[in-house]
Formats: sequence, C-alpha cells, structure tokens
Amino acid sequence: MSIWMINLAYIIAALCFGLGLKFMGSPSKARKGNLISSFGMLLAVTVTLFHQDIIDFRMIAVGIVAGSIVGVLAARFVAMTSMPEMVALLNGFGGIASLLVGWAEYLADPEGMGLQSSSSIFLAVLIGGITFSGSLIAWAKLKEIWIGKFSVSKPFLFKGQQVFNSLLLLLIASGGLYYIVGTDANMVSLVFWGILALSLVLGVMAVMPIGGADMPIVISLLNSYSGMAACAAGFVLGNYILIVAGALVGASGIILTSIMCKAMNRSLVNVLFSGFGSAAGSVSSEVQGEARAISLEDTYYLLESASSVVFVPGYGLAVAQAQHAVKELAGLLEANGADVKFAIHPVAGRMPGHMNVLLAEADVPYDEFVELEGINPQMGTVDVCVVVGANDVVNPAARDDETSAIYGMPIIEVDKARTVIVMKRSMATGFAGIQNPLFFKENTRMLFGDAKATMQGLVAEFKG
Ligand code: NDP
Repeated sequence: MSIWMINLAYIIAALCFGLGLKFMGSPSKARKGNLISSFGMLLAVTVTLFHQDIIDFRMIAVGIVAGSIVGVLAARFVAMTSMPEMVALLNGFGGIASLLVGWAEYLADPEGMGLQSSSSIFLAVLIGGITFSGSLIAWAKLKEIWIGKFSVSKPFLFKGQQVFNSLLLLLIASGGLYYIVGTDANMVSLVFWGILALSLVLGVMAVMPIGGADMPIVISLLNSYSGMAACAAGFVLGNYILIVAGALVGASGIILTSIMCKAMNRSLVNVLFSGFGSAAGSVSSEVQGEARAISLEDTYYLLESASSVVFVPGYGLAVAQAQHAVKELAGLLEANGADVKFAIHPVAGRMPGHMNVLLAEADVPYDEFVELEGINPQMGTVDVCVVVGANDVVNPAARDDETSAIYGMPIIEVDKARTVIVMKRSMATGFAGIQNPLFFKENTRMLFGDAKATMQGLVAEFKG
C-alpha cells in the first residue's frame, strides 16, 4: 500500500476519533461514539500493517495472539468491581508500550540520532516510565494491598519528599539534555539507562504520597500521561495517527483531571506542584453520639409516604451490583407519586464516571441524574435521601471539620434532607479511611446489609 493511501486512511481514522469523542460527550450518543472511534482505531491498525517498513510479520502475529488472549481472559474474568484497578493497569500498559518503543528505537541506532529523534525517544522513555511505575502503584492503592503491616493505599510521606522529587526531576532533565546533545557514545548510553531507571523511580515517588480521596486525580492524570507518552512514541516512529491518538488521550485526560480537581476543590497547579496527598495524611473527625439503625419495614413506610426521594450512589452500589434493584425501586416510588432523582458526585466509586456507567447499564433515565451543584440547593426540601453504599462523598466533615483529611472537598449535602437512610453493611469507613459524622446525626438512620439485598427487600415490601 502506498504511503499516501496510508496517510489518507489515517486522516479518516483521525476524523473518526474526533467525531467519536464528540458523541461521547452526550450519554445518549456515547455508544455510537464508541463504535465510530473503534472503527477509526481498527482502520488505523489495519493500514499500519501494510506499511513498507514492516518486513516480518512473525513478531506482530505473536503480539496479536498473546495480547488477544490476555485481553479476552481479562474481559471475561475481571470482576466488575475490579474495573478501576484494570483501568489503572491499562494506563500502565500504555506507558510501558511507549517506553519500549523509545528503548527499541534507541537500540536500533544508538549513535546516529538526530535532535528530533533523540528528544522524542527521551520523552517517550521518561513519560512512559513515569506512567508505568506510577500506574502500578495506583493499581496497588486501588486494590488496597498490604505489605506486612504497611497499607499501600495510605499516603507514604517522608521529610524532604518534595525536594527529593524535584532533584530527581532535575537529574532526569539534565540527563535528557546530555542524551540529546551529547557526543560521547559510551556516556550517552550510560545516561540513557540512567534516564530509564530514574523515570521508573520518579513514577513510584510521585504516586506513593497520594492516597485516600486524592486518588481520582492521580488516575485521570496517569491516563493523560499515557496519552502523552503515546504521542511521544508517535514522534519516535514518525507515525501520524499515533501522534493524533496520543494527543487526544493526553488532552482529554487533562480535561478530566481538571474536572476531578474541581470536584475535590483543588487547583491543578496545587495538585501538580505541592502537597500531593498531604491533605489525606491525617485521620480526624472524632465522632460522638450513637448511630440509629432502622428496619426494612420502617424504611418502607418512610419511603411510601415520601413525596421526594433522592438516591445517592457510591462505591458500595458497585460492590453490591445493586443498580438494577435501585432502578426498580425508583420506578415503584415514581408509580407511588414520588419525585425521584439520582445525585451523582464526580468522584463517587473508584473511577471517573463509575456511577453513571452503572446506572446507565440499568437504564436509569438521564433526566433523573443531578449533579452536586444541582442537588445541594434543593436538599432542604427533600423528604428522604437514600445513600446507597456512599460514604466519603456524603461526609459532612469535609464541610464542617477543618482538621478533617477531606476538608474542602465538595460533598452531596445529604444531611440537609429531612431524613437520611444510609445503606451499608457496617460502620466501616470509606476509601479515605475517615469516620463519617453523618451516621450519628439526628435525622440519619442506618439500614445495615448488602445494598442489593436491602434494595430487593424494599422492592418486595412495595410489591407486597
Ligand atoms: P467510599 O469508598 O467512601 O464508601 C463506600 C462504602 O460502601 C463503604 O463505606 C462500604 O461500607 C460500603 N459498601 C461496600 N460494599 C457494600 C455493599 N455490598 N453493600 C452496601 N454498602 C457497601 O465510596 P464513595 O463512593 O462515597 O467515595 C469514593 C471514594 O473513593 C472517595 O474517597 C474518592 O476520592 C475515592 N476514589 C475515587 C475514584 C474515582 O475515580 N471515582 C478513584 C479512586 C478513589 P461497608 O463496608 O460498611 O458496607
């Protein structure tokens, strides 16, 4: 296939990506957007296989077979609740792929690099390395892995960490400069391996101090990095569609990061350059009082007489897979004359858009979704607010307690509703690991149990 035909196919693929992204901005057109983008990617990959620079398909075939086996197995066996960890790993795979492209290109011609080529290799290795090791740490944090008595999820801080990280970055930057302009082949080779190793260390050091409620920002930032690394790999290979696709992922990741920053009430500069995770370092909120439990039957009577009900889903909804049951209960409440809404916090769950995906899967109508800014002013007039497996995103300590680890994070102010029903299994804390004063408020009742079983019990009460 001639190069102009390949480039023409790349232009069509790029248009598909753009159109796909546009469609993905609207929930009703998102599936179509996904299909169009997938077609673009299929086209891009297929025509790339016709490139004249490819002289042997054996390694490509091995890669396709191995990748497909892993992909199919992962798709079949990874539990829905483990999707956030999977997303973190996929970011990491993007990073390591770009690093390997840079590495292979360096090995192919260690001495004859031009300025553009060597700077692209440097960036692919640097950003790819940070993304890979950083994503592995993010994966371990989301998986809540323990190493002995040390929980990886907790922020890992030490004195002088910022200075250490800055020095590391400075060292890598100076190494990069030498790698690009240096002439001593032995030294350049040494510097290359140094950059590769230090990039991996920097990824670990950048993510280790972050934990608790700050994690969504890191996940979206790593997603953006994986795109930038792919973009750099595109420059290394001189492949236009990889540059376009990488730039799109990088840019959309940055937009998502800024949305997450807004959701956490942090500025991007603050997140990037200072105090990453420092807010999550303390565990406060002394809670006083007694939590009051409520029975399924009494909850039914409450809901049955309510004229407005707001459901606030959180990570527990995903664990329990209660989305279909909650949709059924919402339908019954509406049939009973109640006004029903779903209030979605941007960082609820364990990945951006987690709750939207689950509720969309259960066909909850989009016009019933309300964002934090939309629901909070109305909360005082809501009869019953049902918190379904959410904890951190409804924690009033974020609003009232200046010493709290999550102070300043906007929350869904469920405590302002007339009655709050909290569905969860125990008094355990959420991801940020802090106590929730909401559970002890006068107007709160705890409905203990698995969210799906509880929800199905309420549905049965209504039907009975
Ligand atoms: P939380 O993690 O704060 O709380 C979830 C609650 O669900 C737990 O307290 C748990 O209590 C309950 N739960 C678990 N399983 C069940 C079940 N089967 N039935 C009923 N309840 C259950 O979730 P939120 O959504 O409120 O907050 C998300 C947190 O995760 C925030 O801190 C956010 O920053 C962080 N995060 C978000 C990411 C994102 O991109 N959205 C990424 C990474 C982290 P119990 O065990 O007692 O049942």
